[in-house]
Amino acid sequence: MLDATTIEKFKASLRGELIQPSDEGYDDARKVWNGMFDRKPAIIVRCVSTSDVVSAVNFARDESLLISVKGGGHHVAGTAVCNDGMMIDLSHMRQVTVDKRNKTARVDGGALLSDVDHETQLHGLAVSAGIVSHTGVGGLALGGGFGWISRKHGLSVDNLISAEVVTAEGNLVTASAEENSDLFWGLRGGGGNFGVVTSFEFKCAEIGTEVYSGLIIKKFEDAKKYMQFHSEYLRKLPDEMTVWMVVRHAPPLPFLPNEMHGKMVVVVPFVWLGGQQDGEKLLKPIREITESHGEAIGMNSWVGWQSGFDGLVAHGARNYWKSHHLQELSEGCIDKIIEFAGKMPSDECEVFIPHMEGAPSRVLENETAFAHRKTPFVLNIHTRWRNASDDERCLAWARDFHSSTQDYAKGVYVNFLSDMGEERAKEAYKPEVWNRLVELKNKYDPQNMFRLNHNIPPSV
Ligand SMILES: Cc1cc2nc3c(=O)[nH]c(=O)nc-3n(C[C@H](O)[C@H](O)[C@H](O)COP(=O)(O)OP(=O)(O)OC[C@H]3O[C@@H](n4cnc5c(N)ncnc54)[C@H](O)[C@@H]3O)c2cc1C
Repeated sequence: MLDATTIEKFKASLRGELIQPSDEGYDDARKVWNGMFDRKPAIIVRCVSTSDVVSAVNFARDESLLISVKGGGHHVAGTAVCNDGMMIDLSHMRQVTVDKRNKTARVDGGALLSDVDHETQLHGLAVSAGIVSHTGVGGLALGGGFGWISRKHGLSVDNLISAEVVTAEGNLVTASAEENSDLFWGLRGGGGNFGVVTSFEFKCAEIGTEVYSGLIIKKFEDAKKYMQFHSEYLRKLPDEMTVWMVVRHAPPLPFLPNEMHGKMVVVVPFVWLGGQQDGEKLLKPIREITESHGEAIGMNSWVGWQSGFDGLVAHGARNYWKSHHLQELSEGCIDKIIEFAGKMPSDECEVFIPHMEGAPSRVLENETAFAHRKTPFVLNIHTRWRNASDDERCLAWARDFHSSTQDYAKGVYVNFLSDMGEERAKEAYKPEVWNRLVELKNKYDPQNMFRLNHNIPPSV
């Protein structure tokens, strides 16, 4: 329990807002992307500057408050919000400044991917990150960060040059290859375990403002034949071509016949970072291997493409994800994917299979804390539904599906984990990486103040 005078004094020290349960806007401020989380922090500190973040961390430490840190609020495990403690809300720290000459971008800790694209695209630049524009840079970049250009340009962590971090002691430090290099290593995959990042500096890629990209919608009846082809063909493609696969009920896409809306399909989205004619040649086998229900392919604005999927994963629905990296898309694994896709518990679920090989897999596995770089595919089971009464059914589907593909799995991406707990978090890291992260936690956060995350508990 905090007394009113203590809170008022703290409030007066902030440039941003302090929001309490009785304040207007409290319920909106505590919302996160995943509608399953209805947590109620005692206070929300909506920071607008680094000094606000320092004050918030110091106050929480001195008053022994549980802390949660909200970047974009997208993590499926709802870790951005806590019960009873302090939510450090960075959603008003979204400044992005591009250094055109050096092709770098300085990005505030609460920026969304849309903010980054908005500014970098002025110069035909992009930061390698995710595929949904309302995702936060903070959580994404601290966990790894991959998307349409990462096969060519590396993960977000591979493009991080430096970060400004407020540590558990309330110190503002720079982490880079030159300064606090141990922390810099841990931030690149270790999530929010080591402090609050107030700004990131990224290397940008020159991609122009339009990319040859699109969707090819394959027939679910031919899923096995298509997937067998996909599992081999992708692995020979140049890094400039990224082709993923999503098995789901067809959205009402204008280029699909009406009768296909809502029916099971295999969506094959791609991005090609090259000339259109060369891209077309690479797509030909994909188009020819099985019949398609329809396609929409062409030069798309990068900003438009990056927000094209936003509506399918808008805020508010109930979500539960199970995921692992796949060593191969073998016949047995494909059979399981088709079997479980055929009994999805809601029309909004997706089986999402990104292809990861390329620049990320050429980085040494101990160079950053993001550890699983060699596995070619990710299997992400997106379970998404509306009513709490369906929770049990939906969770059971995801868990059964996940355990039935365990034989093909190796490791998991920390940003795709719904289930918390040390054992699950450990699967995201190699044992030697985990031990090094624990050492780092001992040094930077021995009291485990930053524990609402896929936690790396200190051993001291
Ligand atoms: C619809 C959707 C699409 C996605 N697509 C992709 C994708 O294409 N590629 C990909 O790699 N991932 C993707 N993800 C996963 C995404 O990387 C994680 O959800 C990530 O946590 C999002 O970051 P956030 O800041 O929005 O999350 P938040 O929920 O705000 O934060 C998650 C955790 O990160 C930490 N954190 C956040 N910001 C900071 C900060 N500034 N300083 C310190 N700690 C911080 C905190 O520990 C917090 O608990 C997607 C997720 C969703 C829901």
